[in-house]
Amino acid sequence: MKILVINCGSSSLKYQLIDMTNEGVLAKGLCERIGIPGSKLVHKAEGKGEKTIEEDMSNHTIAIEHVMNVLVDPEFGVIKDTSEISAVGHRVLHAGTIYSDSIIVTEDVKKVVRDCFDLGPLHNPANLMGIEACEAAMPGVPNVAVFDTAFGMGMPEKAALYAIPTEYFEKYSIRRYGFHGTSHSYVSKETLKFCGLDEKNGKVIVCHLGNGASISASIGGKCVDTSMGLTPLEGLIMGTRSGDIDPAVVQFICDKEGKTVTEVIDILNKKSGILGMSGGISSDFRDVQKAQAEGNHLADTAIKAYIYRVAKYIGSYTAAMNGVDAIVFTAGVGENDKPIRSEICSYLGYLGVAIDEEANSKRGFDNMISKPESKVKVCVIPTNEELAIARETKALV
Ligand code: AMP
Repeated sequence: MKILVINCGSSSLKYQLIDMTNEGVLAKGLCERIGIPGSKLVHKAEGKGEKTIEEDMSNHTIAIEHVMNVLVDPEFGVIKDTSEISAVGHRVLHAGTIYSDSIIVTEDVKKVVRDCFDLGPLHNPANLMGIEACEAAMPGVPNVAVFDTAFGMGMPEKAALYAIPTEYFEKYSIRRYGFHGTSHSYVSKETLKFCGLDEKNGKVIVCHLGNGASISASIGGKCVDTSMGLTPLEGLIMGTRSGDIDPAVVQFICDKEGKTVTEVIDILNKKSGILGMSGGISSDFRDVQKAQAEGNHLADTAIKAYIYRVAKYIGSYTAAMNGVDAIVFTAGVGENDKPIRSEICSYLGYLGVAIDEEANSKRGFDNMISKPESKVKVCVIPTNEELAIARETKALV
């Protein structure tokens, strides 16, 4: 069985074709600048190298057509005919309080995705376009929606609800949802296996540290708490997002700078975090760390604040679960950045965490980075959202 996994952003489309007999990736690629001049598709196929296609992709339907063509391309393709694709799994950001489990797409499901445009204004419209483009390109092939909020929907009410008048939840479903759910779910379950923990009672904290960053606490793979909220803005300091902030700051900047709330929220999403705190150096950790090494004070503070915030969340999530068995790092920074992992763990002596620096210097595979005597296991597990989506899709079709 071959499953196509699609992850649509507002101007991008990532795909992977996965052979579920061995869970191997046959081909993967990225369409960029959809709807913007200069669109291109970069396609990589197992054993066949890379092909770049620079052609008009004025919408997601056209982008999907290019993906279909390259998948059957005599030179760079990996299938003879698109009828070899058994199902398509889509990453869908938000289904409000209506759905949390993955579901085969029907007209009702599409309506819910559409009704949630206001909860996921950047992603939900693109996700729906991706679904409709696949319906048009592959009539009769089932599409499955895998919701990014699914994991966080399992949070108990005491973690999910904001301390605001209940009418706002009742009228508008304003609550904490959490995002990166597919990653947290996949990595927490892999950690239970990798660390040999009890499948039902193992207490795991997943630090998903990428350009977007979030952290979750789970027991037996079920979410106890997670750091993102109604939108992905809440929680950790991220590449360009502020994470937790006193909401009064928004009003204050509006008043002082004559900006609208929308403009300030845009600043908190796109110009804050590591980028903002470093004085605009970069949202990429490698650039900010280089400036830090050269003695730049703002870069140094940004990195230290980032680490401090993660350590504070680990402390609060340990309290929420009355303990922790394993702490795991994943995503771009979490998988690659040895000093960041090491410095986060330097806050965790009170938990009996002892890091093996030699193990911590390796990367690219599931890796135990704590010493055998460490009271809490610490590991790195590369996330694989596409495989998790493909598994969900297979289970449903
Ligand atoms: P992601 O969103 O998971 O793709 O993570 C992307 C981010 O990971 C980049 O913006 C970088 O900040 C960070 N990153 C990727 N590779 C490295 C690396 N080798 N060392 C440090 N940070 C990295």
